[in-house]
Amino acid sequence: MDRRRFLEISAFSIFFSGCGGHSASNLAPAPIPPVSSNVAASEWQQLTADLTGKLTLPNQGSVYQKARLVFSTRFDHIYPEAIVHCANEVDIITALSFVQRNNLHVTSRCGGHGYTGNSTTTGLVLDLTLLNTITISNGTVTIGGGARLVDVYDQLTARGVAIPLGSCLSVGISGLTLGGGIGVVDRAYGLTCDNLLSAEVITADGTKVTCSATQEPDLYWALRGGGGGNFAIVSNFTFKTHATKDITVFEASYAFADFEAVMAQWQTLSQAWPNEMWAQVIPNWMNSTATVSIRAFCLNTVAQARPYWQLFINSINAVANSTSVSTNTYRNVMLGTCENTIAACHLSSQFPQGTMPRSAFAASSDFFHQTVPPLGIQTLKTFIEESIANSNLGMIIFNTMGGAIDELSQSDTAFIHRNALFSAEYYTYLPTNSSNDTIDQSQKWQNSFRDVMAPWSSGGAYVNYLDAYIEDWQQAYYGDNYTKLAQVKRKYDQDRIFTMLQGVEPA
Ligand SMILES: Cc1cc2nc3c(=O)[nH]c(=O)nc-3n(C[C@H](O)[C@H](O)[C@H](O)COP(=O)(O)OP(=O)(O)OC[C@H]3O[C@@H](n4cnc5c(N)ncnc54)[C@H](O)[C@@H]3O)c2cc1C
Repeated sequence: MDRRRFLEISAFSIFFSGCGGHSASNLAPAPIPPVSSNVAASEWQQLTADLTGKLTLPNQGSVYQKARLVFSTRFDHIYPEAIVHCANEVDIITALSFVQRNNLHVTSRCGGHGYTGNSTTTGLVLDLTLLNTITISNGTVTIGGGARLVDVYDQLTARGVAIPLGSCLSVGISGLTLGGGIGVVDRAYGLTCDNLLSAEVITADGTKVTCSATQEPDLYWALRGGGGGNFAIVSNFTFKTHATKDITVFEASYAFADFEAVMAQWQTLSQAWPNEMWAQVIPNWMNSTATVSIRAFCLNTVAQARPYWQLFINSINAVANSTSVSTNTYRNVMLGTCENTIAACHLSSQFPQGTMPRSAFAASSDFFHQTVPPLGIQTLKTFIEESIANSNLGMIIFNTMGGAIDELSQSDTAFIHRNALFSAEYYTYLPTNSSNDTIDQSQKWQNSFRDVMAPWSSGGAYVNYLDAYIEDWQQAYYGDNYTKLAQVKRKYDQDRIFTMLQGVEPA
């Protein structure tokens, strides 16, 4: 089976390029309801004059309708008073001063893929899309806080270098990095945030600060896993780069009936395989026939990787419906069908040439620090079967962890989930015209996977997969690191200029 065909029919496709949306023309319906504002028209005019970038107000009709939208249609009911399209750091400082003078809620937006709509607000949105410069130098890259992964992959791989990133190409570099950044090469190179050397940020009081191991080290620590939107607005990230290597992808697909047999072996891989090898398993019941798919990404040679793959496949007490192996360039594997259509591989709502759709989805997450015993796997399978019987369609994306991720300790950065064997994302997508009640019901169901797996999971959850139904979210996202995060929040945003659902509060 060739790679494109596999992507078309498998669950993997939603995490490569397409990101799980349903249609390319799913813009929110007009008309725009009245958007109340206590800010005088003259103030808005002055702000427009003060900006190098531009200001979009509700009276700008379809321009405003596009500018206000985030990736998830769940938040289409939120109408900002205005959107500032920041062209430089001074624009960020100007906008932060404006919101404090006018007592407005403010949020920043990069890719707009946050799960709980934290990059939109009824106040002022700072859209950072224009800050998308990517400057590659010897061993490092500096990336503007508004860049999308598609552009980062494109420009870096064209120069033969890469940083570890996630798989959905329209995701923003900011949210991804600030929450950690899980991806297919993280066992080899660490999380996205582990490769961050320094960041330039604008703090709540409008001060520009550089953070690194030697400058503002507490803020640098918090930016690596403490979650987007909490501490300051990042205008530039500088990462160390790695030379790209060809990637061998092994794939196998099984009947859902074989889930227990597959999972029992798959969950041992993070300890059995070298760091160059990463694997994912996805039980998927979005379609009429439930399946279990495995994919391994290998940065070592096919000759080195094949024995590990073969041993693993042979250990599964079931026969695969299909298997395949292919080796491609790093660029080709990461960009897939977007390789030659970079402009189109942006969200249709955000870029004139973009064709990628938005999505209605619900998700939650877990981490596992120990292998799950047969009873746990059987319990999960039964829960999935009940979900299928109740027409609750979905999938679970299990990713191996370990390797280079564990070279840092739980307290070295704000990302607490070191030493996990694997992560789980419980995920479903719905038609984009689904009501918020329907999406909420789905979200509750996704969250209930955490309860089902609680006897075997760590109780942790990934801050980049925010779930509003996690009650002890401080513990789940941050564990023991929350105390220090709250202290960093007090130091850099004591007046709580940056607030949001499940946001870090000052100590
Ligand atoms: C389809 C899909 C696939 C995904 N795949 C992966 C994956 O493979 N790996 C992975 O780790 N994650 C993945 N994610 C999760 C993703 O990393 C998070 O949702 C992330 O927060 C999105 O970042 P963003 O910039 O696109 O979102 P935004 O909504 O723009 O931002 C998220 C948060 O960060 C804040 N923020 C934005 N820009 C800045 C800035 N410059 N400075 C400070 N704060 C800022 C926002 O205010 C908001 O609170 C995926 C998400 C989706 C929807």
